[in-house]
Amino acid sequence: MGNWWLSPFCRIFPEVKNVKVVAGVDLGGNAVNYTLVNANERFLIEGLCEHPARSKEGPGICLQQIEDGLKIAAEKAEVALEDIVVVGLDTPGPASSTGVLSAKGSTNFVHKDWAGFDIRDGLAKKLGKPVTYLNDGNAGALWGHFVLFGSSRKETSVSAVIGTGLGGGVIIGGNDVKGRKGFGGELGHVLLPYQSIVGTEGMAPHCNCGRTGDLESVCSLTAIENTLLPYFLPKFPGHELGKMDLHKAAKLVRGMAEKGDALSREVFRVQAHGLGLFFDEMINTFDPDALIVGGGAIETGLEFQQWFISEIRKGMPKQREEQVDIPIHIMPNGDTAGARGAAVEALKLAREGGLL
Ligand SMILES: [Zn+2]
Repeated sequence: MGNWWLSPFCRIFPEVKNVKVVAGVDLGGNAVNYTLVNANERFLIEGLCEHPARSKEGPGICLQQIEDGLKIAAEKAEVALEDIVVVGLDTPGPASSTGVLSAKGSTNFVHKDWAGFDIRDGLAKKLGKPVTYLNDGNAGALWGHFVLFGSSRKETSVSAVIGTGLGGGVIIGGNDVKGRKGFGGELGHVLLPYQSIVGTEGMAPHCNCGRTGDLESVCSLTAIENTLLPYFLPKFPGHELGKMDLHKAAKLVRGMAEKGDALSREVFRVQAHGLGLFFDEMINTFDPDALIVGGGAIETGLEFQQWFISEIRKGMPKQREEQVDIPIHIMPNGDTAGARGAAVEALKLAREGGLL
């Protein structure tokens, strides 16, 4: 059998059990997603570790769900709950920079007790641990930045995450720009000169926020349903997407674009060119080290991702010679980016407080 008791695993095992870690907790509409990270920046959970959110039932039940799921995640990673020294939380907005949810409520926090609820403080009291807070877009952006630049404080990046809406964030010196009231990095509502996108004459992209022609009104799943399909379907008479409900059709466009369907490619070309105009604004504002694209829209094969990035570049006005090489990356670990970014924020607090 050999000297199994002398194996490295045997000797390391007790140390692994006592290692201090931080947690990332991504509270979404239906599920809570978890990750755990140690001081060496190693992520201890592979893939998704999910628990039902039950956020529709109000703060009491939802915070209990978060705690229950955290215990399961800790077991999965073979970490004791008391060795989690800081918890990083991220949720959909609108919320203040410190995690006070909007008094007007929101799509994901419809129960009346959520109005004006301090979710960061509520979770800190529930768990008896320090808790950091980011909105989900900013958490994703922080993850994308961390993958490229680690804990370095020098670089700047801008991330756009294309989902039902458009989220993202701006990272400067390793920190999210949260802004005065928590609306820093609300990239979806930045206005674009959308009239300059070729092949969109007469298109009027309206956003739910009341603006016409902001990034989300051109570049999101909602934009496909509300603006892009109604605009392009009449130009493709007899197209199969014209025979079904727009809400259902919008969800099929990505898959069909990937297979080369001409209408669906047009929809994605317009979105990419809209993003190109937006990135041009960001390049001139921040001169960033990297631009990052994430979200459901580009959770596709590599070939489609590369085509989409090349279309983003085609949609950009001519760049200065010094800036043409600013890279455009695809957000890694798309479905766990929020939890991972929240954990990176927790890691910063743990280090500053000497807890790791
Ligand atoms: Zn808007």
